Amino acid sequence: MKKSVLSAIGAYYPKIADIVSQYEDSLPIERRVTALQELGRKVGGGIYQRDYSLGSPLKMPTTITRELVPALKGLSKVKAKNNVIYLIKCPFCKSSDHTHSGCHFIVGYIEGFLASNPAIDVVQVEETNCGAGSTNICEFTIG
Ligand SMILES: [Zn+2]
Repeated sequence: MKKSVLSAIGAYYPKIADIVSQYEDSLPIERRVTALQELGRKVGGGIYQRDYSLGSPLKMPTTITRELVPALKGLSKVKAKNNVIYLIKCPFCKSSDHTHSGCHFIVGYIEGFLASNPAIDVVQVEETNCGAGSTNICEFTIG
């Protein structure tokens, strides 16, 4: 991963959707999903460390409503219902078609964020519904 991407994200956070899509465009299609997810993990983990690692770590599901959702709100309009997170007007796939991989940044972000919380066991995150080209509401399930 290019260091310049991470430092640009650090400089412009949370206004990073354009930086993430430029990074996505710079990669060969077959590498995009993995690379975007990896980038998201670094960013989400970094934000947890920066903003939420002081004090006693919150367990599931409290960490979702009290920490993860507020963190994601910087990036997009967000709703959460139990272990499902909805990005409304997801800025990471707004202009893309079915070949997009931008939402994998969010998959990685949620994984990295929760993995940095010592009170949480390993989690798996999946984009269970993508709104690219239709509703523009992307749904992420934490398992
Ligand atoms: Zn999506």
